[in-house]
Amino acid sequence: AKPLPKLAATDPTAKALAYAEDATKVKHAAFKPGSSCANCNFFKGAKGAASGPCTLFPKNSVVSKGWCSAWAKKP
Ligand code: SF4
Repeated sequence: AKPLPKLAATDPTAKALAYAEDATKVKHAAFKPGSSCANCNFFKGAKGAASGPCTLFPKNSVVSKGWCSAWAKKP
């Protein structure tokens, strides 16, 4: 399968969910320290991968170090 194009911060859904590529710089009210795409339940990338698919953004890949307000802890 072809790698999905990287999600742009300017994507309307990305904007609506306050997606950012560097979780460590996020100042969102919903942000929980230590959270990032890598430990989000919606992240479908391989463990340790720099980026991967996200259920919420089916046309794009997201960066593991990123974050958005839909973050939910991976069980
Ligand atoms: Fe990252 Fe999770 Fe948001 Fe997808 S839903 S962009 S994996 S924080």
